[in-house]
Amino acid sequence: MSRRPLIAANWKMHKTCQEARTFMAELLPKIADLKEVDVLVCPPYTLISTVDQCREGSKVLLGAQNMYHENKGAFTGEVAPQMLKDLNCEFVIIGHSERRWVFGETDETINKKVHAAIANGLIPVLCVGEKLDEREKNLTDQVILNQMEKNLAGVSEDFISGMVIAYEPVWAIGTGKNATTKDAKDAIALIREFVHSKFGQEVAEKVRILYGGSVKPENVKTYMEQEGIDGALVGGASLEADSFAKLTRF
Ligand code: PEP
Repeated sequence: MSRRPLIAANWKMHKTCQEARTFMAELLPKIADLKEVDVLVCPPYTLISTVDQCREGSKVLLGAQNMYHENKGAFTGEVAPQMLKDLNCEFVIIGHSERRWVFGETDETINKKVHAAIANGLIPVLCVGEKLDEREKNLTDQVILNQMEKNLAGVSEDFISGMVIAYEPVWAIGTGKNATTKDAKDAIALIREFVHSKFGQEVAEKVRILYGGSVKPENVKTYMEQEGIDGALVGGASLEADSFAKLTRF
């Protein structure tokens, strides 16, 4: 079964409206002929509309970096799934390590968000991965499996196959210390095996699993060559159009 590769940009808390417009104007001609790769841009909330307008006529996909799990109410500062739909988002990153470890999101919160995304027609890009001390204590597999179990609790197999999962070792994010291709491949195989055991072979063959953590134009190919790695979730190297466009040509 061949899965379409997905290269996703996570801009985090970067760019003004004008910078986003410039990025999109530079990016689109560079990827106009891409046929076999899905390209997803996840800007901060303030730039979702801008990127949506700029992507018109292209195949660029649009996602948010986070959301709340309720659709309305007294939740000052939060953004609802329906608000993202209203802005034409198709995807939403959930459980990014910065949400987990800077903003204290728990596995239970993340599970609620996965359910809310699906209920509102958004495709979750669920991030899982171990911290450095956990890797050093040989807890990587246990941490990943625990996150998968808790974050996907109660989610129907009908939705898992359309989801995206990103293996993002926390120590590799924004540090320049990327995981070895073997470590990334092994962790992704473990995630797919988990999906297989819980949701069956067909779902495991369909679900896209990305690697994220200091992916750059110089190393993207080595990941994309690995069996089971379906794409990359990219922070730093997605901020310049030229570099992001190069990531789509692995
Ligand atoms: C990320 O933000 O998910 C990420 C992987 O960042 P970076 O590519 O900068 O490590």
